[in-house]
Amino acid sequence: MDNLDIAIIGGGPSGIAAAIQLKRCGYSLVLFEKYEIGGLIRSAHLVENYPGFPTGITGIVLAEKLESHLKKWQVEVYKQEVEKVDYQDDLFKISTGYAQYLTRILLVASGTIPKKLNISKLCLNNEDKVFYEIEPLLRIKNKHICIIGGGDAAFDYALNLAEHNNISILYPSTNPRCLPLLYQRVCRNKSIKCINEVTIDNIRTENNNLTLKGLKKDHFIEIVGSCLLVAIGREKNLKFIGNSLLVNKTKLENSKKL
Ligand SMILES: Cc1cc2nc3c(=O)[nH]c(=O)nc-3n(C[C@H](O)[C@H](O)[C@H](O)COP(=O)(O)OP(=O)(O)OC[C@H]3O[C@@H](n4cnc5c(N)ncnc54)[C@H](O)[C@@H]3O)c2cc1C
Repeated sequence: MDNLDIAIIGGGPSGIAAAIQLKRCGYSLVLFEKYEIGGLIRSAHLVENYPGFPTGITGIVLAEKLESHLKKWQVEVYKQEVEKVDYQDDLFKISTGYAQYLTRILLVASGTIPKKLNISKLCLNNEDKVFYEIEPLLRIKNKHICIIGGGDAAFDYALNLAEHNNISILYPSTNPRCLPLLYQRVCRNKSIKCINEVTIDNIRTENNNLTLKGLKKDHFIEIVGSCLLVAIGREKNLKFIGNSLLVNKTKLENSKKL
């Protein structure tokens, strides 16, 4: 079993910022990342609130810059998914599919996971048409893509995918919850249609397409699309935290080990 000084779980902006600062302070550390460095910001169409990029920067390019910053500080990255973290004898035990590691200090920066659809009638024999992240859709062209969700992520996804596709965004409220600026851009985009006040309660596969059926005010509507991207919010991603750590959580946080 390998012994580490500090382990960081997650190579998104939070984990990267922590890793760089800890390196600057002279600590040795390992960062675990199960997918690609950059985390969720890789999904952003245009990041406009990151100081230093007045005209904005795409999420992918920002992620590349973050990765090269990490490399400059020679942060050791283990491309492994952390499956479980336990706590015993004053050490955190990290288990991945490859190995187990012991560390004195643990920094959890594992971000969020998308909330799943809770639709009573999800009649899908083709679940590979329903997506919760944008990345697998970025190479799709000339299709009609439906997006469920009325927040920033749904509208940012729509602007991104509308470069090569037609998009319908469906949300239950009268007005979307996203930034007004994103809504205005979507309204100006001829490839995107907003369908408000609709609650989808049935999704089925038909002729290699998805048919979404829902109630809009007092009548049913059907929307046919090639695939569906669900962006209805995200929740904490901490499923790898074991009970032995949970019971000691407050004590460990107070002693600055977690
Ligand atoms: C479409 C979209 C557009 C956005 N646009 C903007 C924007 O313009 N401006 C802005 O400020 N924010 C934006 N955001 C939000 C921003 O991306 C997040 O706030 C930010 O990425 C959070 O960083 P994080 O490091 O906390 O988590 P994340 O970015 O989620 O990173 C967590 C990392 O941990 C890894 N991980 C998780 N579990 C494990 C495990 N068990 N083992 C190993 N690795 C693991 C994940 O793979 C991931 O790389 C946007 C988000 C979306 C979805």
